[in-house]
Amino acid sequence: MTDFRFRFVVALVSLIVTVLVCLGMLLGQLFKDFYVETMNKRIEKETKMIALLLESEPIDTARRQIEQMSDTLSARITVLDENEKIVIDTGQVSTISDSAHERIVRDILHGKEEKNASIMEEKQNIYYYIVPFLHGKKANGHVILSTSVHSLKKVTQQIWGVLVSSLGTALIVIVLLGLKITAQHMKPIEAATKVAFELARGNYKARVYETQHGEETGLLTHSLNILARNLQEMSKIQEMQTDRLHTLIENVGSGLILIDSRGYINLVNRAYKEIFHIRPVDYLHRLYTEVFPYKEIIQLVDEIFIKETRVRKQLVLTVDIERKYFEVYGAPIIGTNAEWKGIVLVFHDITELKKLEQMRKDFVANVSHELKTPITSIKGFAETLLDGAMKDEKALEHFLSIILQESERLQSLIQDLLDLSKIEQHGFQLRLEQVNLTRLLTELMTMFMGKAEEKNIHLRVDAVDSIYVVGDSDRLKQIFINLITNALTYTPADGHVIVRVKESSEEVLVHVEDTGIGIAEKEIPRIFERFYRVDKARSRNSGGTGLGLAIVKHLVEAHHGYITVKSQIGKGTTFTVHFPKEV
Ligand code: ADP
Repeated sequence: MTDFRFRFVVALVSLIVTVLVCLGMLLGQLFKDFYVETMNKRIEKETKMIALLLESEPIDTARRQIEQMSDTLSARITVLDENEKIVIDTGQVSTISDSAHERIVRDILHGKEEKNASIMEEKQNIYYYIVPFLHGKKANGHVILSTSVHSLKKVTQQIWGVLVSSLGTALIVIVLLGLKITAQHMKPIEAATKVAFELARGNYKARVYETQHGEETGLLTHSLNILARNLQEMSKIQEMQTDRLHTLIENVGSGLILIDSRGYINLVNRAYKEIFHIRPVDYLHRLYTEVFPYKEIIQLVDEIFIKETRVRKQLVLTVDIERKYFEVYGAPIIGTNAEWKGIVLVFHDITELKKLEQMRKDFVANVSHELKTPITSIKGFAETLLDGAMKDEKALEHFLSIILQESERLQSLIQDLLDLSKIEQHGFQLRLEQVNLTRLLTELMTMFMGKAEEKNIHLRVDAVDSIYVVGDSDRLKQIFINLITNALTYTPADGHVIVRVKESSEEVLVHVEDTGIGIAEKEIPRIFERFYRVDKARSRNSGGTGLGLAIVKHLVEAHHGYITVKSQIGKGTTFTVHFPKEV
């Protein structure tokens, strides 16, 4: 039984007991009074009857009747004459002695204020009823009827017995019924209270059994369940929204930081952690002035705090050993009642964009520079010729051959630029087909034989009869022309250039191997950049544009392949093109 039900039952039982005790006392008293009054009246009547008998009959005649009456009434009847002398006494009905009886009777008589009045008195547990009578119109005597109060006590006991047992039974029945009714009505309330506690603790899954007893309790349990369901749904929606927000904040590409109104950092998202390589414990719940290692950011936050406006700035920050460009956006968070909630900072990493921008600038500068050299040269020689040199036939021929050479360089440069821009264009598409690489490379060899012989370089293809790849044969040719040209260019006389074609289960590999000058390890990542040359003069002299490997890389990637380089200075270089078998 719960505390509440126990208290309720105790209060109810106490109330019922009080009511029943009061009722019992009232009823007991009423019954007793009623009985006493009835008995008194009876004694009075009987005594008066004896008095009448004595008035109408001589004492001696009445004696026998009086004795009979005494027996019937179970009462002692004493008759005193006018001199207060006992003339009739029916004898003992109680434990009291005759002398004591006489003394009591006389005491009562002498205490009587009015001579001819009847008296009723209780002495030593005996009722005395004294009635005067007239005898032959002479002075009156007295009839005394005395009876024990013992019967009255018995009756009183009986009355109390009946009252106690009936009221006791009533109490037990009421208490049992009360317990049953309270159990019926309290149980749902208790269950509802428990569920309400659970709801208050945040357990919205709690439900109460819906009872049919009593409209109010039924309504209560029903409403409580509706409330619990609504709360559960609301918390689910809230959870979902929190989850979404959390996922959004965590997965957004830009770094995000929340600072509260006191300047303490509340939230750091994943992107920020990754960009700045920080641990959240070093940031969370600490002052922004303590944690940001960049004074530019601290100044920016200060500015937002002071001006209460949004601020957008481009900052260059050093993260570890790298310099990174950020577009930082900071805004104050102001609540509905214009109260300060804090600041949100968003860091967009624009390093790549900046790099691209720089690359574009460099590219334009490079192209202009590359174009300028041959044009200046052509212009210079043409001017020299016009100034008179054309009259000298030898000089004329020499200068014209230089002009032709420079024009060819210009042409190949423009061709490479056109190729590159074409490959880089969005809609660039390969005409894919099954290409026999062995045959393609063997055909190419004839093209290079002249140049190889010129430098006395041993050039050959090492491949089995037919190895196929899926690709665009023109573009594949372009890849290998560039690689073999480079190999021949950067290999001194009497060297070797071997093109090996190999096949594994997953890819086809083409190694372009030379015994040339080699490339330093730190240069290797850069040789695929546009216009990058390890030895500028040498490349230019050999007619290189600096774009060949950039084109190769793009074309190989368009074939879903990749290119690797192994090189040793003075020993030679191997470029390996990896083509996947399944495109
Ligand atoms: P280029 O037209 O100058 O050859 P590339 O883009 O084809 O331009 O090559 C870039 C640079 O890489 C060259 O300038 C050269 O320094 C280096 N390089 C390319 N291939 C070889 C090779 N086989 N051996 C040594 N260096 C090479």
